[in-house]
Amino acid sequence: MSEPALSTSPSLSLSHEFADALPSMAVRWPADAAPDPRLLVLNESLAEELGLDVAFLRSELGVRTLVGVAVPPGATPVAQAYSGHQFGGFSPRLGDGRALLLGELRAPDGSLRDLHLKGSGPTPFARAGDGLAAVGPMLREYLMSEAMHALGIPTTRSLAVVATGREVQRESALPGAVLARVAASHLRVGSVEFARATGDIELLRAVVDYAIARHHPEVADDAVPALGLFRAVVAAQADLVARWMLVGFVHGVMNTDNMTLSGETIDYGPCAFMDAYDPATVFSSIDLQGRYAYGNQPYIAEWNLARLAEAMLPLFDDELERAVELAQEALATFRPLFAEARAAGMRRKLGLVGADGSAVGVADEDVEALAGEFHDLLARTRADYTSSFRALSSAARGDAATLELAVGASDALGAWVERWRSFGPDAEVMDAANPIYVPRNHLVEEALAAATSGDLEPLRWLTIVLSTPFTERSGAQRYAEPATADFIAGYRTFCGT
Ligand code: AMP
Ligand code: MG
Repeated sequence: MSEPALSTSPSLSLSHEFADALPSMAVRWPADAAPDPRLLVLNESLAEELGLDVAFLRSELGVRTLVGVAVPPGATPVAQAYSGHQFGGFSPRLGDGRALLLGELRAPDGSLRDLHLKGSGPTPFARAGDGLAAVGPMLREYLMSEAMHALGIPTTRSLAVVATGREVQRESALPGAVLARVAASHLRVGSVEFARATGDIELLRAVVDYAIARHHPEVADDAVPALGLFRAVVAAQADLVARWMLVGFVHGVMNTDNMTLSGETIDYGPCAFMDAYDPATVFSSIDLQGRYAYGNQPYIAEWNLARLAEAMLPLFDDELERAVELAQEALATFRPLFAEARAAGMRRKLGLVGADGSAVGVADEDVEALAGEFHDLLARTRADYTSSFRALSSAARGDAATLELAVGASDALGAWVERWRSFGPDAEVMDAANPIYVPRNHLVEEALAAATSGDLEPLRWLTIVLSTPFTERSGAQRYAEPATADFIAGYRTFCGT
């Protein structure tokens, strides 16, 4: 159901470049009516970064704009078509079942960003879904994506969550909401797969050209621009997944429709931060085989990139054999790039770099050995990933008690600390690389439960603490503490449907 008369929002100016460039992948579609829209959270610093008027966004018309019932002048909301490999199987037609691209906006820094709504009603891609979203999962995406941003990890951003005043039927009736999301673009590996699956090479070329113009204009003059784009996506994803690994982030549903070409983290459904260190960590209730377990993420990213290469093959070379060869060469860069990004991050986490980020006479092999041994120690005691790494800075300053508390005192730990300290780790570098505060699962659930029953304060505090994850705050000790072993053992997450 859509509201018959759409009003216009004068204070927001959006373009419709995607809809113009790729009309066959954009279905013009209105948002559902929202009987009683209420702004739950507004990201004022993001609004300012985007040059948006906060007072307008808080106004009645602004809030109606943020749920899609008021359309900014000139905007053309569309549902985007895409395909996806979901848990390994190909679905040729997924698309935005419950989302709309409102349009693009030009930020004051010159960047073009998508403004997108999630939970705005069923589109022609909805299949059996109701097109809606509940308050809890939309606030969860808001919280998680902003926490990732504060950790310095490329991600889509969250501008606002608006309660619609409408009930959403899940296991029980829940309050409905719309998330307004901002992204460098919503182009996914699945967008290219969609174009390829149509068999229309011109469409494939058009998607690739659009992605190049939007994200990597520098490859437009390459001999084979599509190959330049593929290489750039491989590099961006290698860097992204390395960053996830370094903070213990488990995406949870790394289907190809949930992997961007921009290299931003997208689609915070069942994602969660690992508590106890274990590479086999899986939170998602539907990931029964552990396909998307913490330790599998680099392999899955590489697998997804192979699907991207397959979709792009006709643009690499007219001759299939040569095209495959070029694809393989480019894909082969993933592992060394990932290893390099992870090793550089691990160096910082262990404090074995100079202030300018350069290596300080500690060989790569030593860093790798120290990191490997430390992870073995964590695995042995199922130590809390975040607090164990953070405790290293106190140990570097000469106080190993916190580390012993986190990891468990043992001769092996003592020997490791002694060896590591002999390399002169820099505690300040470590403090800037090892967060004190991550969105711990028990805190996230606590804040969302309160928010769903009307109390937004715990969420507000958690958001504030997570906005400066590397800086210790007085009075915030409970945000740094692990959950109970019982909570950790029983914790499951669900896709946002
Ligand atoms: P996901 O893996 O959660 O990002 O979503 C996979 C596909 O399911 C996408 O095409 C979504 O648009 C669609 N989808 C998820 N939830 C719903 C819903 N409640 N109604 C309609 N489509 C949905
Ligand atoms: Mg998705």
